[in-house]
Amino acid sequence: MTERVFNFSAGPAVMPLPVLKEVQRDLVALPGVGMSILEISHRSPWFDDILAEAEENLRRILEIPSDYRVLFLQGGAQLQFSMVPINLLGPGRRAEYLLTGSWGKKAMAEAKREGDVHVAWNGKPDYVRVPRDGELDIQPGAEYLHYTSNETIEGVQFVVPPASAGAPLVCDASSDFLSASVDWERMGLLYACAQKNAGPAGMTVVVIQDQLLARRRDGLHSMLDFRAHAEAGSRLNTPPVFAIYVFLLITRWIEREMGGLAALARFNREKAEMLYRLLDDSGGFYSTHAERASRSVMNVTFRTATEDLDRELLQRADRRGLAQLKGHRSVGGMRASLYNALPQAGVEALCDFLEEFRSEHQRDPVGSARPVATAGAG
Ligand code: PMP
Repeated sequence: MTERVFNFSAGPAVMPLPVLKEVQRDLVALPGVGMSILEISHRSPWFDDILAEAEENLRRILEIPSDYRVLFLQGGAQLQFSMVPINLLGPGRRAEYLLTGSWGKKAMAEAKREGDVHVAWNGKPDYVRVPRDGELDIQPGAEYLHYTSNETIEGVQFVVPPASAGAPLVCDASSDFLSASVDWERMGLLYACAQKNAGPAGMTVVVIQDQLLARRRDGLHSMLDFRAHAEAGSRLNTPPVFAIYVFLLITRWIEREMGGLAALARFNREKAEMLYRLLDDSGGFYSTHAERASRSVMNVTFRTATEDLDRELLQRADRRGLAQLKGHRSVGGMRASLYNALPQAGVEALCDFLEEFRSEHQRDPVGSARPVATAGAG
């Protein structure tokens, strides 16, 4: 198949077509350089320019204050589950964790290896919502409070950062990075893998406040030490040149073609609203996993009344060019990821298909004999 389909994957995910075309060209020869982007040295002047512009663009797009360092690392978001506590915890130090889904739980498990961890709120077992500030049990004196701004698997997202009782926030923003603005007010550290809104897998962005950097533990292995990476300007070893290059193209696309972050955030909200409206208006045929106030703009998790019907839906969607809609195995049902690069036409095509599928099954006497879900949790 050479035709592009609508790709609803949770990550690696859909990328902007103009960026893919540029990458295709630069894979053979970078204009003015005569070598592939895959062939240039990470110490070359060309990569100096790429790295500098990538950071500059990111700082402008996210309005990152000047007392924060930007690091381009490897190891994915999961290395940050370890690097954060390795740097910031240790004997006698404690962190708070908010568990609003599967990724936060994994992050907490790694932090426990490095120090004292207290769970300020736990949304288990189903993870259908984020907590209200008044529900948090935060003990004073924590080094940081870790939360996951968007839980990719469950489709649960914070609208505003949680309360932290004076502790700096550490945010895993992997699946809503670059989708809307960031409130830096109490943010100590924000990290995100690239493979949702920021390019191919292989690069992870860490934005860390100087104050927090200064508190990092001494005597760490260099590759696990935020300060060593900061001092080496993200070139402590060979960085993922290609992934950083694609990231640069994506930052340009955000500013030049999507009208900047505020416009992109509006676009994302509109796409999600269109899909949630259709699900809510389905008379209970579809139900969403997340409660209404905690629903993700990036990952829409939903189901029909039965697993058989979900399976049929997924097969038919796939044949219609609506790809990778299967929900994570721990949640089941469907998950439509509506990242930055998913066009409006993709959501419209999905809505048309879901509406058609519903009306067919509600007309069909066999289908209507099936139990219909009561309105979802949200
Ligand atoms: N955190 C979140 C919120 C994620 O969505 C993911 C990946 N899906 C991860 C962490 C893990 O990322 P990686 O595979 O890059 O380690």
